Amino acid sequence: MAAEPLLTRSGQVVGLKYGVISDIHSNLEALTVALEFLSDVDRIVCLGDIVGYGPNPNECCEIARDKATVVVLGNHDAAVTARISPSWFNLIAREAIEWTVEQLTSTNRSFLENLRLVQETPDFIAVHATLDNPLSFEYMRSPYDARSTFAEMDEHQVCFIGHTHVAEYYSNKYDEPTVFQIGIVDGGVVELESDTRYIINCGSVGQPRDGNPKASVGIYDAEARTVTIQRLEYPIEVTQRKMRSAGLPEPLWKRLEYGW
Ligand code: ZN
Repeated sequence: MAAEPLLTRSGQVVGLKYGVISDIHSNLEALTVALEFLSDVDRIVCLGDIVGYGPNPNECCEIARDKATVVVLGNHDAAVTARISPSWFNLIAREAIEWTVEQLTSTNRSFLENLRLVQETPDFIAVHATLDNPLSFEYMRSPYDARSTFAEMDEHQVCFIGHTHVAEYYSNKYDEPTVFQIGIVDGGVVELESDTRYIINCGSVGQPRDGNPKASVGIYDAEARTVTIQRLEYPIEVTQRKMRSAGLPEPLWKRLEYGW
């Protein structure tokens, strides 16, 4: 018999198993493999940058709309809906943004327009870049950079972020100043200690930049108190072929095979 779901006093379900995806960047092949792997989780959490760079923005938006129950806005999603100016991006990223704007259906555009910057559940808080600046163009790259997000986590023990396309986590024991940064680029399990807070980046589904070209996804088991990072092979050459024929800039499709 299946276990009864755990409820908080306000009636929200806690202790679920969450599939965590981020930075899909219109890469349908990687997203398809990621969701196959996550087919038995209770909820899908998407940390933004559904579009930008890749060849299938509409398909990826439709899947995110259909499958993810928690979705936050990424800076590329914000740029294609003019919530921030594309002029903030480098030239090739901007070219892909302009291409994406032309492709998006009005339904998908309004889906992206209505995404929130931060989402909270009893089990975690989610944001694209950092809690103090959700659409920041700066990257969290060091324990020093992580401090401002730890400062805004309030009672949450776990914060999921994306944006850097690097699978890693930061840990901070309650009431201690030290923050540790641990890479998990080849996958692995993070066992959550009850006396510690965590900022966890499960890596990028559609454009990894941590030297590992495989799609990266996470499973957060809020009852077992573990986060598992898994790297998954996907047919990179299919995505590259589509990007080439769409006329997207060569450095964007080349980088997929190197994971940079
Ligand atoms: Zn991104």
